[in-house]
Amino acid sequence: MTYLSDLDTSNTVQAEVIKSERITPEDVAEVRSIIFKIRHPDFSYREGQHVGVLVPGPHAFGHDNHFRLYTIANSPQLNADDDIVIELCVRRCFYIDEFSGEQEPGIASNYLCNLKAGDAVTLSGPYGEAFELPTDPQTNLLMIGSGTGIAPFRAFIQHIYQRQSDWQGKMMLFYGARSGTENLYRNDINNDLDKYYDQKTFQAFEGLSERPWMHHEDDGLHDVLSENAEEIWELIQDPKTHVYLAGLERTRERFEDIMLKTAGSSARWKWMMEEMKEQNRWSELIYS
Ligand SMILES: Cc1cc2nc3c(=O)[nH]c(=O)nc-3n(C[C@H](O)[C@H](O)[C@H](O)COP(=O)(O)OP(=O)(O)OC[C@H]3O[C@@H](n4cnc5c(N)ncnc54)[C@H](O)[C@@H]3O)c2cc1C
Repeated sequence: MTYLSDLDTSNTVQAEVIKSERITPEDVAEVRSIIFKIRHPDFSYREGQHVGVLVPGPHAFGHDNHFRLYTIANSPQLNADDDIVIELCVRRCFYIDEFSGEQEPGIASNYLCNLKAGDAVTLSGPYGEAFELPTDPQTNLLMIGSGTGIAPFRAFIQHIYQRQSDWQGKMMLFYGARSGTENLYRNDINNDLDKYYDQKTFQAFEGLSERPWMHHEDDGLHDVLSENAEEIWELIQDPKTHVYLAGLERTRERFEDIMLKTAGSSARWKWMMEEMKEQNRWSELIYS
């Protein structure tokens, strides 16, 4: 888990918005793809890392900057002017004010979602461990995420197919969304991930909520993991399988819940997880 207060925010760069577009339809929660260019020779990052966004104040309680993290959703690229181009996948968030009981807009996500082409922002970082691609191309990659947790996997999958097109291990993506239209990068507006679906090593399993009209946290991930639990359990026993988890804390809770049931005892699951960590085949990017 990343604690914002532990992070150094002094290493900042200026970024300019090139493009911002909504990638979910109007009738579901707004998620935007926001593309920035950064002209800074010292800025570089790897797939699985995130940047900090510093929203200028003044803010409540005397804070000068409101600071939040966002995962970079593309593999590193340069434009024709040699600027670094990064893409963020941002959900417009709201919270319930504990005094008034009213729904209020989240500061950082609304700031980002309201940006227009040409606007300048201050970013810090990058932060976090990159999603390392194992050196052995026979390694199986098990990717599990939901909601904006798709962002690092999009960058990672781009990286693999652009730079490791001969990957022979299985690549399995388990992804949950409340409805087909909330399925990021794979809906009528943006179906970027579709280009990887033809690859013979790539398999995606999508779970959709059975009750998308209700405002609860069911995003279908639990069901799709449950349907494939035996295969997943078998795969993670294989020392050639690396597990990647990304998204909100509930993504990990769902995965652990299914694995606990499949393993038969919590001791067996904990032992398996420790073994994966010791063998360096477990990576996670979890936030609350
Ligand atoms: C390592 C890391 C990577 C992250 N990557 C992304 C990312 O790629 N895209 C992204 O949109 N957010 C991401 N987040 C979450 C982001 O940092 C902010 O927490 C979020 O945008 C809300 O900030 P805010 O200031 O708008 O509102 P806040 O007042 O901080 O939060 C408002 C409410 O939104 C909820 N919330 C926060 N993030 C999400 C989310 N992604 N989906 C649904 N509800 C959420 C919070 O629990 C809270 O209830 C990441 C967080 C971390 C720690």
